[in-house]
Amino acid sequence: MKSKVSKENKINKINKTNKTNEKQKLQFFFINLLSFAVIFLVIGVIVFQILTSSVYQSIDKDLTRMSTDETFLEMEISQGTGYGSSSFKSNDSQEKAGDNPSRNSFQLQAILWSKDGTILNADKLGSRYNDLQNIKLSTKKIGEIQNLTVTDSLGNETSFRSILIEVSVSQSEVTYIQLLTNTDLINQTVENFKKILIVCMLFFWLISIAISYYLARLNMAPIVKSWKKQQEFVENASHELRTPLTIIQSKLENLFTHPQHTIIEESESIAMALSETRRLTSLTNDLLLLARTDSNETVLHKELIDIDKFLKNVVEPFSEMADTQKKAFTLENEVKVMLSLDSKRIHQLLVILLDNALKYTKEKDEIKITSSLKNQNWQVQVIDTGLGIKEENKSQIFERFYREDGARQRETGGYGLGLPIAKWIVKSHGGTILVKDNEPSGTIFQFQIPYK
Ligand code: ADP
Repeated sequence: MKSKVSKENKINKINKTNKTNEKQKLQFFFINLLSFAVIFLVIGVIVFQILTSSVYQSIDKDLTRMSTDETFLEMEISQGTGYGSSSFKSNDSQEKAGDNPSRNSFQLQAILWSKDGTILNADKLGSRYNDLQNIKLSTKKIGEIQNLTVTDSLGNETSFRSILIEVSVSQSEVTYIQLLTNTDLINQTVENFKKILIVCMLFFWLISIAISYYLARLNMAPIVKSWKKQQEFVENASHELRTPLTIIQSKLENLFTHPQHTIIEESESIAMALSETRRLTSLTNDLLLLARTDSNETVLHKELIDIDKFLKNVVEPFSEMADTQKKAFTLENEVKVMLSLDSKRIHQLLVILLDNALKYTKEKDEIKITSSLKNQNWQVQVIDTGLGIKEENKSQIFERFYREDGARQRETGGYGLGLPIAKWIVKSHGGTILVKDNEPSGTIFQFQIPYK
C-alpha cells in the first residue's frame, strides 16, 4: 500500500516536472522567436533605408550639380528661348533636348519659368509638356530638393525629384529654372525591392521557427540534466542519511525498553549508535564539500609541501592497517622536491584512494603507491591487486553515489562519494585522474597534477 502511494507520488512529481520543463522550453522558444523577429526587422529596415537613401542620394547629387552648372543652365535657356551667346548657339549638333553632354541622365527635364508662372520652353518640351503643364510654380522652397507628383489629363501619376533655382538673364523673361528627374522607375524598383525584402524576411522568419525550437531544446538540455542530477543527488543523499539515522533511532529506543540495564550491558547498542553518528558526520562532511564544489565556493590554500615527508606521513596509518589485514604495502617515491599544493586536499585525495585500495583487496593482496615527476607533472599511482573494476563501470565510478554491485553488497562502509571528491580535488589543482586495470588483477588509480 505504502509503496503504491510512493510510486504514485513519484509519477506525479515526474509529471509536474515535465510540465515545468515544457513551460520553460516554450518560454525559451518564444524568446528566441521574438529575438529573431526583432533582428530580421531591424536588418530589413536598415537595408531598406540604406538602399533608398543611396538611390535618391545619387539623383539629388545630379540635381544639385546641374543646378550649379552655369554652362548647362545657359544652354537650357538658350535652347528653350532662343537667347544665348554666339559660341553657344553655334553648337548645332547638341540642340536637341536630351543631347546635352552635361546631362548624364536622360530623365532630367528643365522647365523655364517666367516670373508670373508661365512655362517658357513649352515648344522644346514637346510631348512632355502635356505631362508637365499641370505643375504650378511654387517659389516657397527655392534651392531645395523636393518630391513632386504630377497627374496628367488621363489621371496617370508621374513622380519627380525637383529643384527650383532663380536666375537673372538680361533680355529674357526666364526668372526660374526648375530641374526635374523622373523617379518612377526608381520608385518601382524600390517598391519591388521592398516586396522581395518582406518575402525574404518572412521566409527566414519561418526558418527561424525551426531554429528557435531547436535552440530551445538545446538550451533546456543542460538545465534538465543538471536539474535531474541535483534531484538524484538530493534523493540519494536523503536515502543515505536515513539509514544511519534509523539505526541510531532504533538503538536509542531499545535503550528505553531496558531502563534498568547498565551502560556496560548496553554497550553494543551505544557503540553501534556512536559508529553510525561518526558515519553520519563523515557523510554530511562529504555532502557539504560536494555542494560547495558545485557552487564554486571552495578555494584551494596552496603551500609548499615536502613531498617525501608528506607521503610518508599520509601512508603510515594505511601501512599499519595493511599489516594487520595481512596485505603487503609499499611506497615508492622519487620526488625529493617541494611542490605547491593544498596539503589538506591532497591528503584527503590520497586517503580516499588508499582507503579504497584497502577496502577492495583481500588478505595477501598487494598495495603499492608510486610518486614521480613526469612531463612537468607530479604523477601518483595507487596500485592494488584486489578485486578490480569492471570495464563497463569504469566511466561511472567517478559519479556521485555510484558503487559497484559487489561493493554495495559488501559492508565496506562507503557511500560512493570518495571518488567524485577525489576527482574534484585533482581537477581543482588543474590535473587529471584515471583508472586502469592492474595486471594480472586489481586496479590502478593514477593522477597527475602540474607543478608549474
Ligand atoms: P565507496 O565509498 O563506495 O568506496 P568511492 O567513490 O570511493 O565510493 O568508490 C566508488 C566505487 O568504485 C566503489 O564502490 C567501488 O565499487 C569502486 N572502487 C573504488 N576503488 C576501487 C578499488 N581500488 N578497487 C576496486 N573497486 C574500487
